[in-house]
Amino acid sequence: MHVAKNPTMEAIVCENRSETWEQMWERTNRLGHALHNLGIQKSDRVGVMLENCVEFVESFVALMKLGVIITPINIHLGTEELAYQLNHAEVRCVITNSNHAEKLMMIRMQVPSVSFIMIVGTEKLDHTLLYEDLIDQADSNELETLVFPEDIHMIMYTSGTTGRPKGAIRGYDENYHTGIAAAIEWGLHVGDRYLAVTPLYHAASCAWLLTTFITGGTVIILPKFTPTDFLEAIASRDVTWSMMVPVMYDRLLMLTDEELLRYQLKNLRLFVSGGAPLHTITKIKLKKWLPAISLYEFYGSTELGISTVLRDEDQLRKERCVGKALQDVELRLLDPSGNQIQNGELGILYSRGLCGFRGYWRDDQATKDAFTDEEWATVGDIARQDNEGYFYIVDRAKDLVITGGVNVYPTEVESVIMDISEIADVAVIGVPDPKWGESLKAIVVVKAGYELTEQDIISYCKNHLAGFKVPKSVDFVLQIPRTPTGKILKRELRKPYWGDTT
Ligand code: ATP
Repeated sequence: MHVAKNPTMEAIVCENRSETWEQMWERTNRLGHALHNLGIQKSDRVGVMLENCVEFVESFVALMKLGVIITPINIHLGTEELAYQLNHAEVRCVITNSNHAEKLMMIRMQVPSVSFIMIVGTEKLDHTLLYEDLIDQADSNELETLVFPEDIHMIMYTSGTTGRPKGAIRGYDENYHTGIAAAIEWGLHVGDRYLAVTPLYHAASCAWLLTTFITGGTVIILPKFTPTDFLEAIASRDVTWSMMVPVMYDRLLMLTDEELLRYQLKNLRLFVSGGAPLHTITKIKLKKWLPAISLYEFYGSTELGISTVLRDEDQLRKERCVGKALQDVELRLLDPSGNQIQNGELGILYSRGLCGFRGYWRDDQATKDAFTDEEWATVGDIARQDNEGYFYIVDRAKDLVITGGVNVYPTEVESVIMDISEIADVAVIGVPDPKWGESLKAIVVVKAGYELTEQDIISYCKNHLAGFKVPKSVDFVLQIPRTPTGKILKRELRKPYWGDTT
């Protein structure tokens, strides 16, 4: 890490707080010693359940120094899901704050492995320890634990879009390779300033923390996303790059032209999008607003890290495309029998290489299902490849709708409906149908102040899609359920029709 080279450079900035590399290094040494003094050892699991804040980043670094397996925890989990995750990973200590400690207290008896709850902030609760007190009392010298590339770095639970979250095991080796490959791809270097606005407990944000620290940059943390706070942070903190999920770009672009042009984004060089498809209309608007800023899209997953990258020059040339394999990643399309598919046909996307994952924590069956005998791994996305070698994610195998025996990929229908200017959001699912087995239903949010009928949407689809891809029904809702990182929770939408299938 860059502490020796750039001790006085900022490492972490959040609101009115900032730490230099030297200060961050010392505090994380202390936190590492504090955890060690509690009896937490290499390979134990420690959960971090925090909003975007300085302490999240400190915990991330301290746990790495101690070789402890970091288990980031989604702050929105309900008590049942939280208990499941803590038990499943056998977490020994949770670093959290008083906002979430109450939830932990409620399930305390159900999670016997959790011996310590460390609270960030000043509100000390019964049976908890204060993070700052522990840091104050601990040594600041370097930790002596030896951490090797083959050690497990994190157990990162998947978003749970398709079912119960699974604990993806990622090692130091894979995470460093992904971090370095992303840094090369994005063109990052010492002094770059990353604005962290997606939840830090999510896989992608953890990857950017590592990327930033490998390259010797600064992490600027935005605790809560609003379009104007985001722009204000870029302008006032000299941000050079940031990553958001597509729904965040869509929210940003709802600002008026006057609002968008109010901020001086003079150091900004790069926007990255990932986690879900970035609609063409969003790309066009982004390019029109900021023609000189590079726009990169990646396709990835909690398990496999970044699999592909679509570079700036290809954004408008290659529609609905996720680009080519990241350095050190091999990709292959296989049919259900394991035969390789070429010539633009659809197949399940598999990956192999230095950036992948090692399997699911304590879930041999899910691990077996994810890997072929030759170590190719999949998360179940259907894709195709064009004759220039670029990949296109068609949909998730679990979201595929089979209507009248024909396959329909809801993502394609969603992207057509999204082109209707009055539409703010859309999800397409299959619902039971006595005649067709399943039929397509569009669930839409109409922009405030506009009106649309079911027939308007169906007619638009008829003009832009083959007949079997046109939704048979449309529901109008105020909001579509999404994960904190913007993924549509299709299992929630399907529940009223199919029951709980998780
Ligand atoms: P679970 O496996 O529990 O359902 P999840 O797969 O939603 O959780 P993530 O790992 O956060 O959890 O999501 C990865 C998925 O997101 C990919 O498998 C893919 O379907 C989708 N995805 C990611 N990036 C893109 C992209 N650029 N374009 C299209 N889809 C994407």
